[in-house]
Amino acid sequence: MENFSEVIVIGGGPSGSFCALNIAEKDVNVIVFEEHDKIGFPCHCAGHLSIKGLESLGFYPPPENFLENVFYGARIYSPKGSSFSVRFPSPVTCAVNRALFDKHLSQLAEKAGARYLLGVKVERLIHRKEFVEVIASKRTGETFRFFGKIVVDAEGVACKILRQMGLTPPKTMFYCVNAEVENVRDIEPDRVEVFLGNMYAPGFYAWLIPRKDGTAKVGLGTRVGNPRTLLKRFMKKHPAASLKLGHAKILRENFHSIPLSGPIKKAYTDGFIA
Ligand SMILES: Cc1cc2nc3c(=O)[nH]c(=O)nc-3n(C[C@H](O)[C@H](O)[C@H](O)COP(=O)(O)OP(=O)(O)OC[C@H]3O[C@@H](n4cnc5c(N)ncnc54)[C@H](O)[C@@H]3O)c2cc1C
Repeated sequence: MENFSEVIVIGGGPSGSFCALNIAEKDVNVIVFEEHDKIGFPCHCAGHLSIKGLESLGFYPPPENFLENVFYGARIYSPKGSSFSVRFPSPVTCAVNRALFDKHLSQLAEKAGARYLLGVKVERLIHRKEFVEVIASKRTGETFRFFGKIVVDAEGVACKILRQMGLTPPKTMFYCVNAEVENVRDIEPDRVEVFLGNMYAPGFYAWLIPRKDGTAKVGLGTRVGNPRTLLKRFMKKHPAASLKLGHAKILRENFHSIPLSGPIKKAYTDGFIA
């Protein structure tokens, strides 16, 4: 059959590429559809990862070019600015450049035999008797059909295809912002900082992740309200954060959501797994 792959993965983020890598390593035919033209972009993630987690997946230490820093612990701040810190004898977490991390994973998957179709968005799935039909579109508006035995949904928080397949997405989403900033003062370069307080990050927390080059990633999540407004308030008004970030310049900021209601109850249906 033309345009056929045993497995079709929707989304070239870390979940999609890791899945494609594992499938390709088993010599199974797999193709990844990614709606953006470039893997890793736009990047919305702060890239703060557990070293143990990365080790267990075989990805630590990562290539130097995308390892931004390593951390021995964290300092946690109360809304009023008092703090305590936790420090371990060796690094427990690290910060990676998420765009390069995603690219690296996709290259490993490609090397193992996975194919990528970039700039192609999956619009709809139709479950046929023996296979799943994928209706996809390019930016030009051109649509085409593809066929697979099984479709893996790695579309992230969008959940559009998940809903179409009759499955229930996570109930609770938090709106988040992650900004890259320069001119940060008084940071401990080998510790991440976590700030609590409903005034600044209702229901969630704010973070400060220093990079080795002196810049940092700053962000927060919130149940309600506008994350951009909250980030400004956090940087200017939080009693401890404002001393570090009051004069910082935002180089770029990205917005996206994080689901916080745990795994979904059912993650599969005929020919489809999320
Ligand atoms: C502001 C912010 C900061 C974060 N910071 C951290 C952190 O420090 N550490 C951490 O561990 N996690 C963090 N996260 C969470 C982390 O980003 C996600 O858990 C992670 O990206 C999930 O990976 P994924 O591959 O499942 O989804 P994504 O990374 O979202 O990838 C999904 C991919 O699917 C593509 N796609 C979607 N729909 C379609 C379609 N219909 N057709 C084709 N392609 C499609 C998208 O373009 C995207 O490339 C953060 C999240 C946010 C919002």
